[in-house]
Amino acid sequence: MTIENLVPEDHFLRKLDRLVDFSFIYEETKEYYCHHNGRPSIDPVILVKYLLVGYLYGIESERRIEQEIQVNMAYRWFLGLDLDERVPDHSTISQNRRRRFGGENLLRRLFEHILHLCMGKGLVDGKLILTDSTHVKANASFQANVKVLAEHETTDYMERLDRYEAEERRRLEDSGAIKPQRTGCGKKERKKVEKTVSITDPEAGMLRRPGKPEGMHYLSHQSVDAAHGIVVDVAVTPGNTSDSEPYLARIEHMRNHLGLNIETTGADSAYGTSLIYRAMEDMGIHLHTPGATGGVNYKVEFTREAFEYKKEKDCFICPAGKELTLRSLEREHYNICRTYRADRKDCRACPMLNRCVSDSHRSRTIRVNIFEEAVRRQREKDGTPIHKHILKLRQIWCEGSFAAQKWMHNLRRLFRRGIEAARDHCLLSATALNLKRMVKCLE
Ligand code: SF4
Repeated sequence: MTIENLVPEDHFLRKLDRLVDFSFIYEETKEYYCHHNGRPSIDPVILVKYLLVGYLYGIESERRIEQEIQVNMAYRWFLGLDLDERVPDHSTISQNRRRRFGGENLLRRLFEHILHLCMGKGLVDGKLILTDSTHVKANASFQANVKVLAEHETTDYMERLDRYEAEERRRLEDSGAIKPQRTGCGKKERKKVEKTVSITDPEAGMLRRPGKPEGMHYLSHQSVDAAHGIVVDVAVTPGNTSDSEPYLARIEHMRNHLGLNIETTGADSAYGTSLIYRAMEDMGIHLHTPGATGGVNYKVEFTREAFEYKKEKDCFICPAGKELTLRSLEREHYNICRTYRADRKDCRACPMLNRCVSDSHRSRTIRVNIFEEAVRRQREKDGTPIHKHILKLRQIWCEGSFAAQKWMHNLRRLFRRGIEAARDHCLLSATALNLKRMVKCLE
């Protein structure tokens, strides 16, 4: 009796082995091994397969993976171990993973290798990419938290917003539409904010969202190709990051690094910020998100619709026939607005003052988001059958993938600490899902 004839021909791991040649791991890891001296070390392919068994079969602890490989013929066969061969100790695997490959992105390269394999087999076309995020519980005590005052971090999202603002300001100042900004009036100093930080895992973030469990979490931001549900990108952030924050950088990564020719994307309403709409339009990508809820709350009777925009003079005409001229460019939360204001003298003498101006103001102001037109153009397809179809696909592939990963591929919680461990964990979970979908499509 041999191990070869103990494993059924149609076993999932046999099918996987026929499709994926894991020997590329030797090439990827050759610089971490010395071939001339020292004790023979653990085979890097065995290390990767050992971890994959855990994520493919939902075995969370490395100690239990070792036990399962000892008694399961198919797992042994997949790792290339004979019936009487010793299974590598879980602590050896742990130490190798942490010390030898920690911070070396080996698991990202594994994820991308499998992804390129899927792309080569025609399972990814890259035309429609669907994105969502899910929370993964950090390995942190709920009680061991402290409150600290922290600086606002400069994020990629805010830097992009700054660039658009600088560009618009230069354009308006050069055309004489607004006065040049006085030196020192540019960026306001950002206030420090109070943050809850975990003592056991300071890199995790406090998740506080309606309908989600409160506590220290990481967020796995995952993008899925709509052709066969292959996960094409995984990014991990602390749990207190907004979904829109890493989105544009990840889209650029998929286009530039993976070479995907993205035409359309779908995401939930958290991604529908005006900056994202504008940046996506600049990239030539059509973004579909669910319709916006709510709108501007006016305290007065005259809403913006009561004012007529005159393009040639770049001003608004109010119901009393007075002009609201462009005065400044202002940052309002995450929006950049052109501010139009009526003359105080006109408003003071106006019989419609109390229908138009709130008590706290002396003249009427209208703020126009500089991305407004881009948002309008991108939202033109809202409610159409294709828009509804894309949002349905987003639910199926994104939420369906997360459900499968949480149920079967260890995405529910983390065993190790730190954002690097969280990233490796989410990448392995996505790799396991991709391998299963690849086998399902090709075998
Ligand atoms: S209050 Fe001012 S802006 Fe409003 S209608 Fe009168 S003049 Fe025009």
